[in-house]
Amino acid sequence: MRKAGRHFVQIPGPTNVPDRILHAMARPTIDHRSPEFAELAKDVLESVKTVFRTTGPVFIYPSSATGAWEAALANTLAEGDRVLMFETGHFATLWSQLAARLGLKVELVPGDWRSGADIAAGAKILAADRAHTIKAVCVVHNETSTGCVSDVAELRAALDAAKHPALLMVDTVSSLASIDFRQDDWHVDVTVAGSQKGLMLPPGLSFNAVSDKALAAAQQAKRPASYWSWAEMQKLNAQGFFPYTPATNLLYALKEAIAMLHEEGLDNVFARHQRHAEATRRAVRGWGLEILCRNPDHYSGSLTAVLMPDGHSADGFRKTVAERYNMSLGNGLSKLADRVFRIGHLGDFNDIMLSAALSGVEMGLANAGVPHRAGGVQAALDFLKGNG
Ligand SMILES: *Cc1c(COP(=O)(O)O)cnc(C)c1O
Repeated sequence: MRKAGRHFVQIPGPTNVPDRILHAMARPTIDHRSPEFAELAKDVLESVKTVFRTTGPVFIYPSSATGAWEAALANTLAEGDRVLMFETGHFATLWSQLAARLGLKVELVPGDWRSGADIAAGAKILAADRAHTIKAVCVVHNETSTGCVSDVAELRAALDAAKHPALLMVDTVSSLASIDFRQDDWHVDVTVAGSQKGLMLPPGLSFNAVSDKALAAAQQAKRPASYWSWAEMQKLNAQGFFPYTPATNLLYALKEAIAMLHEEGLDNVFARHQRHAEATRRAVRGWGLEILCRNPDHYSGSLTAVLMPDGHSADGFRKTVAERYNMSLGNGLSKLADRVFRIGHLGDFNDIMLSAALSGVEMGLANAGVPHRAGGVQAALDFLKGNG
């Protein structure tokens, strides 16, 4: 049966694609070896740097963000190299498994999935590694499975304090263009990103923003990457081309997204996300439910994960909301399965959309028989109307 009105995608990515972006990509695919394409590519390859706050190269792959995880590691590291990672949640775990499959020796700093990375524990390991056997340190900036942010600047400071030369790699898949991130200021060596979250695009593009130090490491790498090769990309990107067929229409979309982000102003975009996150947390507390992230300094601007009261199924609740209100909420991943639901508030989003999403949650809690107090939505509305 047809469901009238708009489907609410309140998962923390893919996010809601704005009409301007849909229109920008609704055009015939052009010859990717033509001068017209080169003009588009040069424009996008240059302007995308501003979103990463870098002056270095950004490589764009026609792949999901998982590909960019692999690209970061495959270009710079060789089998047997030691990498330090932080177990912040599901995505950090997946990245570490991918690293292990590439033959890297992964050391995982443990975490309880309720806060950002334990930087102090990582700092100790780095300080003890006087022989510099650790070749890269990898962290997920915004852990999308938990709604906790890790402090990248603090991790950079820990590397500097230990005078440790390891490459710093950061997954910004659900933070780029939503939560403040600074590739150059924080001396990040490889930033991994994807198109379908803060960038407001459909899935299908991924990114590596790369420092000079990472480029140098890639030149010396003993096992050169193939499909993911930065060297091949760099050669052809200089002329506005790619080593293989690029996702042409998504590049039109990206051009539009970058323009939209700058029309609003990146700092305003970040502030909007923080404001919606705060309103959401007020709603959750109003319902008497628990926010999964236990450390207020690590609260995420792009999503909020909510713990279900004991004995109640998060997936059952999400199903009720999907069926009755045509809204998708994020599920609990791996060890959080059925224990949490996640409210995405990132991308192209405004106060009324957030209010509607929170209303759907509050009605769904009642419909699914989840113990809660009414009034969460009211608390969010009071915050939103009083804090323009
Ligand atoms: C979504 C996400 C990924 C995976 O992205 P895909 O496009 O599904 O490959 C990786 N890391 C984080 C933090 C994410 O949120």
